[in-house]
Amino acid sequence: MASIYIETFGCQMNEADSQYIADRAAAAGYVVVERAEDANVVVLNTCTVRDNAERRAYGRIGSFKPLKHADPALKLVVTGCLAEQDRDRMQRLAPHVDAVFGTAELAQLGDAILRWREEFAESAFSEERALIVPLGGAADCVTDAFSSVRGYVTVQRGCSYYCTFCIVPHVRGRFDHRPMVEVLNETRARVAQGAREIMLVGQTVNAYRDPAGEGDFGELCKQAARIPGLERLAFISPHPKDFTKEMLRELSEIPQLNPRLHLPMQSASDPILRRMNRKYTRAQFMERVEWIREYFPQAAITTDVIVGFPGETEQDFRATLDYIATGVFANAYMFIYSKRRGTPAAHWEQVDPAVASERFSRLADAQNTVTRSYHDRKIGTEVRALIQGISKKDRSKLAAKTLDNVTVIAPLPPDFDERLYAREPWLDIRVDGARVWGCSGSIVRRAERFANGGVTLEQPLINLLTA
Ligand code: SF4
Repeated sequence: MASIYIETFGCQMNEADSQYIADRAAAAGYVVVERAEDANVVVLNTCTVRDNAERRAYGRIGSFKPLKHADPALKLVVTGCLAEQDRDRMQRLAPHVDAVFGTAELAQLGDAILRWREEFAESAFSEERALIVPLGGAADCVTDAFSSVRGYVTVQRGCSYYCTFCIVPHVRGRFDHRPMVEVLNETRARVAQGAREIMLVGQTVNAYRDPAGEGDFGELCKQAARIPGLERLAFISPHPKDFTKEMLRELSEIPQLNPRLHLPMQSASDPILRRMNRKYTRAQFMERVEWIREYFPQAAITTDVIVGFPGETEQDFRATLDYIATGVFANAYMFIYSKRRGTPAAHWEQVDPAVASERFSRLADAQNTVTRSYHDRKIGTEVRALIQGISKKDRSKLAAKTLDNVTVIAPLPPDFDERLYAREPWLDIRVDGARVWGCSGSIVRRAERFANGGVTLEQPLINLLTA
């Protein structure tokens, strides 16, 4: 049987695209495998958002050279933002790559996978492949019992905001919103396949507008929530500027909306926000936070922060650090500024790397304290969480995500059966420990539907003995 291996770098947008590629491949009769060594087609879905993501992607492309040399029939495909950005250079930099598909060419990639399938129908791997040292890497889209529990649905591609640090508009183009009817149909299909939670994905998701004028992002969420069987709704990644008070009010009336909102701040200093071309001031950002607190009093707000942006002074940095230290964010994704070719900020005078790195440590310390205390507050409570699967770090544990997006791990229950837990994927977990990365606890019961009471679990014997 023809087989495909998919590896994804970067954001949820890429994850959604990889899900699409996997769906097309499965429909064409491929099996998605866990090791590149076992695949006829290897797809790398790349990211260029930071310099090290680009270097990692090139490193990874290079690591497939021995596999390609051992078996020239293998198709090595690069897609994602690096493919779009380096389309012309890719053949020179990585001549062993067979095909490059830009971010707007996923349908063509799906067609090519279908065409290649005939070539692999009867093929056997060359014996030289057996000599390949395991290539490592984390496979994506390998179907397990829990794959269909969450569904990603892309609502829009590209971005028209041109933040001065960001490569996205340059590689993915300007806004291209999908028709609302298409987004709703795909959501309906994912729910019918068993999705309990739908994540609407877009680079600037709340700027969504139906091309036929059928409504904005608030309207899209309202309509999605009316789909029978849709239990939970989440979205990533909104832009602070596009949250109006009215939109937040509308969203707060959707019972399935998860109580978590990502609000990428980047900096809390006005001069830096201006240089970043973020289109909001510190005061406007804080106003959005207040609106969220008004309409979603229990919501976890998370953010992104860039440290060491060109021109950032100690005073600018202090403004960000002091705001973070107030504890406003349940979690923050923090990065040291990284130059991206072709963006305005890459040409500006850069902050000394040692200074940027020292600021990053201070910021990370401040946020880690806040995040840990957010998680500490869950100790002793029962949380409802949607299963993710067996923990990759500890095979004796299950991993799940709470509605506010906190990872919780718990020992595998005595009756654990993948198919049973995929049918009843909501877990009530009693939290007894907290770390910066999330929480730990034990499973009390599982439920088929979010709103159901659930089936109480027998405690593992070890717990009875130690109780
Ligand atoms: S809003 Fe700014 S950071 Fe976000 S994708 Fe658009 S240009 Fe990039």
